[in-house]
Amino acid sequence: MKENYKPDTLCVQAGYSPKSGEARIPPIVQSTTFFYGKTQDMADLFDLKSDGYFYSRLANPTVAAFEEKVTALEGGVCGIACSSGMSATALAVMTVAGAGDNILSSAAVYGGTYNLFSTTLPKLGIECRFFDPDAPKEEIEKLIDERTKLIFTETVANPSIVVLDFEKIASISRKYGVLFAVDNTLATPILCNPFKWGANLIVHSSSKYLDGHAAALGGVIVDGGNFDFKGNKRYLSFNVPDESYHGLVYSELPVAFGTKCRAQMIRDFGAIMSPQNAFLSYIGCDTLALRMERHSSNAAKVAAYLEKHPKIEWINHPSLAGNKYHELAAKYMPCGQGGMMSFGIKGSVSKCATFMESLKLITQETHVADVRSCVLHPASTTHRQLSEEDLKAAGVPHNLVRLSVGIENAEDIIADLEQALGKV
Ligand SMILES: *Cc1c(COP(=O)(O)O)cnc(C)c1O
Repeated sequence: MKENYKPDTLCVQAGYSPKSGEARIPPIVQSTTFFYGKTQDMADLFDLKSDGYFYSRLANPTVAAFEEKVTALEGGVCGIACSSGMSATALAVMTVAGAGDNILSSAAVYGGTYNLFSTTLPKLGIECRFFDPDAPKEEIEKLIDERTKLIFTETVANPSIVVLDFEKIASISRKYGVLFAVDNTLATPILCNPFKWGANLIVHSSSKYLDGHAAALGGVIVDGGNFDFKGNKRYLSFNVPDESYHGLVYSELPVAFGTKCRAQMIRDFGAIMSPQNAFLSYIGCDTLALRMERHSSNAAKVAAYLEKHPKIEWINHPSLAGNKYHELAAKYMPCGQGGMMSFGIKGSVSKCATFMESLKLITQETHVADVRSCVLHPASTTHRQLSEEDLKAAGVPHNLVRLSVGIENAEDIIADLEQALGKV
């Protein structure tokens, strides 16, 4: 959308505009392939000389509508919807890094991302150097060498709720000419705009707030179009012809990263979003702004309640004045801090189980960030592969309970917590 609409307007209006007489919302184009009458028309598509669809592994109209909505919301230049958040992260990294290269990553990242970076990417020869996101700039930049291709972070880390100091990472990224990537899943473009704060690349698990209903798995990569690959020696593969794509030199294109990602990664790995999931995610996004408002206000009320509860050892939500990340959140997420929080229950780990099993409204789920409130005990589920040391590095103590506050009435959520804590 060219107009300077506000985010809540973009949620509803961006992405798909029908022509006269067409469906008002994006049709689900459930077709692998597309018809062309002329050979030259298809040849132009293959040469990237014209826009259009030819095979749904590369692009599809329903998927494109969702990509455009998220791109408009983030203020980027190109979006690529993937089959999951994990594939979005994996493909984003592999677009720039290959065997012999390394990336830097905050140690406080989603458990699946941690596994990808610590176990799977090293098998492909891509080394990951983890850093403490709260460490001083000098300590983080020491990890950079000439083969460093990307710095990976999360706006609000899942599940440790560490809020990113964008300006610190952006200054390192600018100083060394290294791409700055942010997983903006838990903040969403409604609460935080990473491109405004110097990020170059955003990834999302759209399975969370973007879809919002726990209906569709998905991920999105958004290219900020604000990184100059041209002549940057760190990114040779952007500056030499891609023989697998008609000798294209990506750094010379208006959209360098996004084009390379789609032309190589989506083409070769095929992890594109399905049209059905793109449709669900698209209509989910219509209400994103409203939902984020409610998630944030509910969570602030719940956090204020839990903070005073005698059975709670500690609580982490950036809305609380005493929270370590309160100031960073006020700066980078001024309109609300989202629905994710974590807290520790006093006593042994078994108290966490008693508490969670006593909940009636709030359910135990391996999911977060949808309309329904839910809890999880990461140390025994999502993070159970991690050693005690790794758990500490990831900011996940054994008694940590992750609570994703939904959009139910806040009084009902608090009443459920109250009765379950009573059983502990
Ligand atoms: C869930 C999640 C992912 C992974 O996304 P999937 O869609 O489950 O593959 C990545 N990052 C964050 C912050 C998440 O919460």
